[in-house]
Amino acid sequence: MHTPTLIIGGGLSGLSLAYALERAGHAYTLVEARKRLGGRIKSLTVEGANFDLGPSWVWPGQHRVAQLANALDLQLFEQWSNGAQLFEHASGEVVQDAGFMSMAGSLRIAGGTSALTDALAARLNPAHILLDCAVTAIDDSLAAHLADGQTITADRIVLCIPPHLAATLCFTPALPDNAQAALNAIPTWMGAHAKFVAVYPTSFWRKNGLSGDASSRRGPLAEIHDASPADGSLGALFGFVGLPADIRAQAGDAVQSAALAQLENLFGPKAGTPIAAKLMDWSRDPFTATAADAAPPPGHPPYTMPAPLRRIWDDKLIFAVTEMAPDNGGLIEGALAAAEAAARKIIG
Ligand SMILES: Cc1cc2nc3c(=O)[nH]c(=O)nc-3n(C[C@H](O)[C@H](O)[C@H](O)COP(=O)(O)OP(=O)(O)OC[C@H]3O[C@@H](n4cnc5c(N)ncnc54)[C@H](O)[C@@H]3O)c2cc1C
Repeated sequence: MHTPTLIIGGGLSGLSLAYALERAGHAYTLVEARKRLGGRIKSLTVEGANFDLGPSWVWPGQHRVAQLANALDLQLFEQWSNGAQLFEHASGEVVQDAGFMSMAGSLRIAGGTSALTDALAARLNPAHILLDCAVTAIDDSLAAHLADGQTITADRIVLCIPPHLAATLCFTPALPDNAQAALNAIPTWMGAHAKFVAVYPTSFWRKNGLSGDASSRRGPLAEIHDASPADGSLGALFGFVGLPADIRAQAGDAVQSAALAQLENLFGPKAGTPIAAKLMDWSRDPFTATAADAAPPPGHPPYTMPAPLRRIWDDKLIFAVTEMAPDNGGLIEGALAAAEAAARKIIG
């Protein structure tokens, strides 16, 4: 099989690149390793409502997200932050309004962040998308080899996968040492993290004057926020697990039961009995993170496109993932920025 542009990876960067090519009438094929599209954008669906297991927020001033949401008829709404915040001491004692930051001013996408990737996917020709197709090797004749033995040749190949995963592919000839080192050096944003979501019939904490924001020195959840849908049909809380990846792996299901006990301690008995709950550990997701992502970077890295990765194989091997975006690297807006830069190279 031959295609003018082979896009590897069907997360937001790959999907938005495919959308740009489709609108420009440029033929492409997108291969995605998983049986689903969206990558780090993933939801728990309960009674038709989507709850983010990956990213939740975008921010004012991120013009690509705003434009795309508008084009796809999706609404943005403000993160709920009215009411008191809670702080849980290491002893388990809970106090109100100890002065920690909420996420006030952040925006969410109505229908969950996956509404964005679902709406993009719905606008693509399904004949151009191959699911369950992991690329394992790429050679400089621009042939990509898949785990199932297929080979796809292309005029150019765009890698829309996290750099640490790109570093594990077999390139023939091998990439220059500085290019391989650059891939190894770029951490996968949020690849070390795990998120816990609990869904309730109502957002009962709001009636008790609580915002749903909480921080904890006790854990296992270090930072908790309201995750209820825009239409108020259900209530939800989510938390980032504060335990390191290796401890989470050892603890197994105990993390989930401890998280529910913690929510009950913070928000009262109703918080201990959700109608649904899910723990998503991204560090154990083989198409997001590698062992090199087990420890998070100390802060938000200054992501950019490293010089050694800029013109590989006469610029026929292009990198376009959020971690290599020209701006907003690591973020949803960065995934769109990376796709935009790649589309400019391809379409002109
Ligand atoms: C818990 C969490 C919270 C986050 N919170 C926020 C937030 O609030 N705001 C924000 O802006 N960003 C946030 N992010 C980051 C955001 O999710 C990413 O910026 C964005 O989703 C990246 O999209 P991407 O397409 O560039 O990469 P990915 O989503 O990683 O997509 C890569 C795709 O490539 C596929 N793939 C991998 N290897 C192969 C292979 N060998 N062959 C074929 N396909 C392959 C994968 O399956 C995946 O579908 C968060 C991320 C996580 C995990």
